[in-house]
Formats: sequence, structure tokens, C-alpha cells
Amino acid sequence: AVVVVGSCMTDLVSLTSRLPKTGETIHGHKFFIGFGGKGANQCVQAARLGAKTSMVCKVGKDSFGNDYIENLKQNGISTEFTYQTKDAATGTASIIVNNEGQNIIVIVAGANLLLNTEDLREAASAISRTKVMICQLEVAPATSLEALTIAHSNGVKTLFNPAPAMADLDPRFYTLSDVFCCNESEAEILTGLEVSSPEDAGKAALVLTERGCRVVIVTLGAEGCVMLSQTETVPKHIPAEKVKAVDTTGAGDSFVGALAFYLAYYPHLSLEEMLKRSNFIAAVSVQATGTQSSYPYKKDLPLDLF
Ligand code: ADP
Repeated sequence: AVVVVGSCMTDLVSLTSRLPKTGETIHGHKFFIGFGGKGANQCVQAARLGAKTSMVCKVGKDSFGNDYIENLKQNGISTEFTYQTKDAATGTASIIVNNEGQNIIVIVAGANLLLNTEDLREAASAISRTKVMICQLEVAPATSLEALTIAHSNGVKTLFNPAPAMADLDPRFYTLSDVFCCNESEAEILTGLEVSSPEDAGKAALVLTERGCRVVIVTLGAEGCVMLSQTETVPKHIPAEKVKAVDTTGAGDSFVGALAFYLAYYPHLSLEEMLKRSNFIAAVSVQATGTQSSYPYKKDLPLDLF
């Protein structure tokens, strides 16, 4: 199984012809509500591939929270450790997108920041028995660290996605990560190196493995990803599928969710093969609009991925 300890965010999206100026009111032409949050996105992708999943998270005791729980259930995700609190609203991302695809975004993490180590003690039964646990940085860092510690001490494979990136990440995040998966900008913030090519990504991965992660993966959008494990000296580039991207939002989360699925259910595959397949699945997600709405189901994918 795959357990995710992470965030749920309700995306409130307005489409406008241009972005408003300070103090200005403008009319948009379309509004929609989407389900997002890096944690839940990754969990949904793993579930749609067929993983047994559980989402350890906190939403508000409000209508967005109720709707989010319904969304998790509809994706077949266990909500046994999905907590609801009266003390904060469900996390939201208020997003304005203009016709050029430029955006402005305000995130209020709300209930996500109230997921605490006491909640994790309750969820420890699930975390300690799963094959793979994923976490990110959209909940309190102390909560993610505790989740990694519980998983690690029970021999559960940990997949850590340091997003959004923090420059002075606690060094324990590296030593507790079996697989450390970040994108180009996160790799830049963490290492201080410029990362804009597979060669750069390989150099950043070397720095990150030296901090203690067993395996480092740096995703590179249309360039695919680069992997490096502690036992190797030469990074390997795995090119992406060549597709026409229409909306790359959430591609990284689709990739992480897919990778967790392969780590949990196809442990005999080489890491390179798992990454090829994860590239394929994330490439499907960029060919449709939206975040979770663009994530493929097992039934829509080629049989040779399974
Ligand atoms: P993030 O969403 O975190 O910025 P990336 O942009 O690095 O992450 O994308 C994650 C993965 O999604 C890539 O490693 C690749 O497999 C896939 N992907 C992203 N953009 C494209 C694209 N334009 N064409 C094909 N695959 C893509």
C-alpha cells in the first residue's frame, strides 16, 4: 500500500483576460473549483493506477473539507486518518489565470498546518505497515519529519518530495529519505546551483546524495528526469515522452504518485524502468487541463505499464 502524509487544498480558479491591478475589480469569464494540494494529488495518482492508498491529512470542518473527503473516497482512498478541525478552514489556493496562461496565486494552508505529531501517532498503525510512504512540505515540517521517522524506523520505504522548497532544510530530511524527488527549481534552492539541463541536474543530485539520501531524482519537465543513487557516481538521464503539453500543472505530483505506485507494487523493476513508466504517466497528465482531472486511470493506460 501507499500512505501519503500531506496536504489537501481546494483550488478556486478564475479565468480572466488579464490580471487585475491593485484595488481594481475586473470580470472574469469562467470560474471553477478543483481539488489540489501536493499530498492529495500524489495520492490520487497512485490510487488511479491501482494502489491501495490512505491519506493522512487535515481539512476544515467546512463545506470544502466535506467535499474534499468525498473526492478522496471517490478515488478509492482510505480517509480513516483524514482529520477535520474546527480551528482552521480547509486549505485553499485562490488562482487567477489570464489568457496568456500567466497566473497569480494566494495559498492559505489553513487546516494543513494543524496536522500534528499527535495525529501521526494515531495514524502510525497505517504508516508503519505500508510499503511506501510519501510526504512533502505543504504541512508543518515537524509533521513531515515525524512521518519520515515513523516510516523509517519501521522499514517502510520513504519517498520525500521537498515541495515547496526551503533553503535551509533540516538535514534529517536527507538521511530519512530513501528516494528524494524534486524538480529543477527545488534542486536549485536546495543546492544553490543553477539547474537547467540534465548535466546540471546530475551535479545537483550528487550534492543531494552526499547529504544522505539513498536515491535522488530531479525532474526536468519536458526533459524527463535524472537519477542518481548513493552507490553510483554517474547520474542517468531518462528522457520524457515527446507529447504536446496543454497544461503542465500538477505534472510533478502525477510523477511522484506514479513512482510510489511502482515502488510499492513492482519492487522487482529497476529504478530506471520505474522512472520511464512514471515519465509516461506524467506525460499523459500534461495532455489534459486541470490537476487531478488530468491524471490517468489504469484502464486508460497501455497494458505494458502494469
Ligand atoms: P513540476 O510539476 O514539479 O514542475 P516537472 O515539470 O519537472 O515537475 O514535471 C514532472 C514530470 O512530468 C517530468 O519529469 C516529465 O516526466 C513530465 N512532464 C512534464 N512536462 C512535460 C512535457 N512538456 N512533456 C512530457 N512530459 C512532461
